[in-house]
Formats: sequence, structure tokens, C-alpha cells
Amino acid sequence: MADIIKLLPDHVANQIAAGEVVQRPASVVKELLENALDAGATIIKLIVKDGGKALIQVVDDGVGMSATDARLSFERHATSKIQKAEDLFNLNTKGFRGEALASIAAIAHVEMQTKPEVDEVGTHIKIEGSKVVFQEVAVTPKGTSMAVKNLFFNIPARRNFLKSNQVELRHITDEFHRVALAHPSVSFHFYSNGSELFNLPDDNYRKRIVHIFGSRTNEKLVPVEEETPIVKISGFITKPEYAKKSRGEQFFFVNNRFIKSPYLHHAVVAAFEGLIKADTFPGYFLYLEVDPGSIDINIHPTKTEVKFDDEHTLYAILRSTIKHSLGQFNVAPALDFEHDQNLETPYEFKNKSAIQPHVTVDADFNPFQETVKTSFKPTYQKQNSKGWESLYVGLESKMGSIDVGNSISFESDTITGSIFEGEKEVNESVATTFQIRRKYIVTSIKSGMVVIDQSRAHQRVLYEKFLKNSTVKEAVSQQLLFPFTVTFSRSEINTLREIQDVLLSIGFIFEEIKDESITVTGVPLLVAESEVGMILDQLISDYQQEVNGESFSQSDILSKTLAKTLAVKTGEVLDDQSQIALVNDLFACTDATVSPFNKPVYITITENDIDKKFI
Ligand code: ADP
Ligand code: MG
Repeated sequence: MADIIKLLPDHVANQIAAGEVVQRPASVVKELLENALDAGATIIKLIVKDGGKALIQVVDDGVGMSATDARLSFERHATSKIQKAEDLFNLNTKGFRGEALASIAAIAHVEMQTKPEVDEVGTHIKIEGSKVVFQEVAVTPKGTSMAVKNLFFNIPARRNFLKSNQVELRHITDEFHRVALAHPSVSFHFYSNGSELFNLPDDNYRKRIVHIFGSRTNEKLVPVEEETPIVKISGFITKPEYAKKSRGEQFFFVNNRFIKSPYLHHAVVAAFEGLIKADTFPGYFLYLEVDPGSIDINIHPTKTEVKFDDEHTLYAILRSTIKHSLGQFNVAPALDFEHDQNLETPYEFKNKSAIQPHVTVDADFNPFQETVKTSFKPTYQKQNSKGWESLYVGLESKMGSIDVGNSISFESDTITGSIFEGEKEVNESVATTFQIRRKYIVTSIKSGMVVIDQSRAHQRVLYEKFLKNSTVKEAVSQQLLFPFTVTFSRSEINTLREIQDVLLSIGFIFEEIKDESITVTGVPLLVAESEVGMILDQLISDYQQEVNGESFSQSDILSKTLAKTLAVKTGEVLDDQSQIALVNDLFACTDATVSPFNKPVYITITENDIDKKFI
């Protein structure tokens, strides 16, 4: 048989390797920013166009390159940063593989101008798909400017795979945040399509964080500081009351390199245990310094994962350091979410014996009136007979036309007002719905019964409402008497601008959107004014996450988020009217069977099923 194995030509090998290093414009941004930092730059400018698809340019004032180095830097495995394998264990630079420029040059049009400080003139090189098409001596300032144009111009499949400019810009911004947070002593400028997104002067860590995430961040931060023989920890955590439902501002840096570590994340969350609600996350900006020899950053091509020698000890130190900070800043005891306020005895009543509540029976009492707040326990017989009756009533015929007018009478003198309003063990009155474990609503139907998950049902109802709202021209909204201002970070404001139209269509009204704040003058029906900040936070972060994920429609994402945020939750007590209303609304939905998040909303148990249990 003839020999068939051939070595791939360099440019093909480079293109293949590029796939590993460059997934999207943000990867290029990361590599170029890191190169600028490795070159000792003090001022770095990042310029992008069309989400980096048209242009990514990084200009630095670092050491620059000689003409020979300028040419060599685009060769694979060309690096000035390590010479022998042992150097890998004492890395102080971001890069070391010597792959980035070779990879980028294989899949884009690259133009570089560079000059070391001592040289009179610099070098200007153009490379397209690994081929040098131009090289000349040039007059250029000290440092390096690297412009990457038309990314993936020769790999259409990859180019088509890129998301919208907005989404790519968001990935770039994330990358920019990570680099800028790790290097507060370097000043950064970031421009997109001609407008300045960030202008970060050199500063300390705290100010850098605040510059990036907005002035309101300052009050949220609690400093963290610890030094042990194996690790030095510094940085900030956010106060527990600012914990968010979404993972957002969570950053670990090891030796000034951003890393992802689910394990260390767990250590931080563990330190917050008991201080924040189960489904919320603290924010953190934690800088770890360890001996470069004790970590291996070589295990991931894009280098965001790190292997530590002694992970367990690190975990323990991190957790106790954060606990200590939380305690020291006296934020620990201020909050107790587990505590049920309903069960709290007001101070004045402590040590006094309970007074039997007195209830005057109102003959015109109608439990279905909105204003009724006190609940009553009817006698056993009453309940019993009603329970039996309801087994025979069809939901369809009963719902919406419940006639209670004269069917209520209180026959017993054992009537007591419920002490804890709404906390009913047994579902009373004539309603055909029951709430079980503050979680499910049970109601009878012709064929048996349905058990409805209250939270999912409400999500479905609200979701359809908002979605419908967003398709009609004039959304229903409540005008606020006193407009108020909510502050956000710049990137949050950018997102708000993106989704502004849809927010309007579901009923938000904004008077003004500034760089770091918005003025709200109207909110959708059902949204309480006090919740607006929280809801917008949630909308922004869900939107950012969704968009980073799969295909989407803005109004769908926002309706889902609003539904999730506003729906009654498991654990909430629903009075009879609310239960009935919910059941009615649910079955009026286009698709009552699943929640907006594709979870079953209710199950039916037929009479047959029940009969079988009694065999
Ligand atoms: P690595 O960073 O892993 O060494 P790169 O392909 O990113 O590999 O860069 C190759 C080399 O080019 C670097 O080692 C460095 O010597 C040089 N270089 C790249 N960018 C710059 C820059 N902005 N300023 C000075 N030198 C640079
Ligand atoms: Mg590099």
C-alpha cells in the first residue's frame, strides 16, 4: 500500500489550532489584553467594532518589539516568556504558549505596529491568513498596536456561528471586566463603535470595582483580608442583603489571573450559609496570591481553570476568612431569613398569657369578599358535608359561579379567629379548593381531582399575561406619582437599553436613561414600586444569561422572568378567593399543563386511581 500520511501545511495546522484558542471575538480580546499586560503596559486601549467581528484593536504603551521579534511573534510556539519546561512552574506572565498570535493571524487580517522605547523607528506588519502581506519600517510611538480585522474571514462556518453583535460585545465586556479587575494599577479605555464604554483610571482594587460596576457597588462591599503561609487573600465580598438570585459578580483571581473554580465558589457560599436565602448568591471579588509553583494553570487551553496543590486547605482558609469578615463587619446577625415573622411574639407581649380572640359574627359575612381578612373555622359537620358535596361537583360548572349567599351559617360557639392570619390548617368555608402544605391546590373535577402546583400555575398565568401584553400596542401600566431613580452599572444600563422596547411593551415607563441610572415613571400592573429595583436586576441578569445561551425572543425571556419573580411561591398561604381565582385563571390559559419553564403544572387523580387504593 502506498504511504498516505502527510504533514499538514503550517497554515492549515494553525487554523485547526486556532479553533482551540479563538472561539469568538472575546477570546482575541483576552489574548491581546494579556499580551499588553505582559509587555508591562500602563495604559491600554481596547477598540472594537460590531461586537469585534469587524475590528478588535489593542493599543499599549509596553515594551514593544524589534523588527525580528515582530515577525517571529506570529510563529507558532514563538514566545519570549518561557525557555524551558521548568519555567512553567514559575510563571509570572499571562501568556506562555506562544500560540495566540499565530492562531489569530491564521484566521483574521492582522495589522501590527510596534516599537521598543530605545529604537528610533518601529515596524509595521500586515498578515492575512498566516501570510505576511506587508512589512515596513514605520514611525510609531513606543509600545504595540495590534488590530485584528474580519475574524474568521476564511472559516465561514465559524463566522456564521457567531452570535449577534450585542451578544459578542457582552462576551468581550465580560472578558474586559476580568482583566481590568485583576489589574487596577493599569488604566484602561474601552471603545465600541466609536463610543466610550469604559474609562478606568489607575486605582486601587475597591475603586476599580466601583468604576466598573457603578457607584452603588461601594456600599455593598465588605473587605476580606488574610495572610497565611500558603495563601494571601484580599478583596471584597458583597453584604448578604445584596445577594442576588443570579450568579453575576463573582470573581476569583489567582496571582492576578481570573479563574473559575466551582470548588472555591462553594467555600464562599458555605461561609454565607444561614445569612442568605437558599437560592441566592453572594457577589465576590477575591484575589488569591499563592506560590506560582503550587498551581498548575496549564490544564485548560484558555487557562481559566487552575489546579491547586492543596485545595482542601485553601477551601478551609477561604471559608473561615470570609466568615470572619462577615462577622467583623457586623453584618452577620443583622439578617435571619429562616425566621418566620408571623411567629414572632412582639416584645411587649412576651411573658403575658395569650388572650382568647373575640369574634363578633357578622350575619352578612361573605368569605369571598376581597376585604375579609379574618378566617373562621366552621364546625366539623359543616366541613364534612361541604367536603362531601364538593366531591360531586364538576369544576367547570362550579367555578366562577359559586353561590355562597345564604349557605353560610355558623352553628357553633367554638368559633375562634385565627391568630396567625391566613395560617389555616384545614381549608374551611365552602370553597371547592384546598391548599396543601402551602404548596399545592387541590380541587375536584368530574373525573376525580386535580393537584396543582401553586407556584408553577401562577407562573403560567402571569407569563401568558405578560406575553399577551407585550403583543398589544398599549401596555397596561401604572403611572407613578413620584418617579424614582434606580442606579445600575454601565453594562447593566447597556442591557437595559437593549431591552427597553420590550420593557415598554410590558408596562415599564422610563423617563430618562443615563450612564449609571434610570428614572422610572411607570411600572406594569402587578409590580409593586418597592420591587422595581429587584425586578429590573433580575430581568437584566436573566436576559444576559439567556442571550448568552440559545436563541431567544426578548419578550419571551422578559415575560418568563417577570412571571418567575412575581408568582406566588411555595410556602405562601393563599386564601380561598386567591385559590379559586388561580384555578380559574390557570384553566383559562392557552397551555395550562406546563409552566413557562416546561415543568408540569398539575396532575389529575381519577376516581379510578383512588378506588384502586382502597382495594
Ligand atoms: P505568548 O503570550 O504565549 O508568549 P503570543 O502568541 O501571545 O504568545 O505572543 C508571542 C510573543 O509576542 C510574546 O511572547 C511576546 O514576546 C510578543 N508580544 C505579543 N504581543 C506583544 C505586545 N503587545 N507587546 C510586546 N510584545 C508582544
Ligand atoms: Mg499571549
